[in-house]
Amino acid sequence: MAKKAPSCPSCRREVRARAENPCFPFCSERCRTVDLGKWLGGEYRIAARSADEDEDGDSTQAAPVRAPGDA
Ligand SMILES: [Zn+2]
Repeated sequence: MAKKAPSCPSCRREVRARAENPCFPFCSERCRTVDLGKWLGGEYRIAARSADEDEDGDSTQAAPVRAPGDA
């Protein structure tokens, strides 16, 4: 049986089954938030930054984003 695992619409990683993944069809809360942010527009960076960024060790930390009130 060649059951193809679903992939995350946001990061293309493998997504766990709906039964054990409240964020389905996304792989994680982060990706769900990121994708939502894309649709909403300007909230993309804020949403991505507030989530767990060390999930897969990619280059998410290459572009630090400063919070408006963090001066
Ligand atoms: Zn994802």
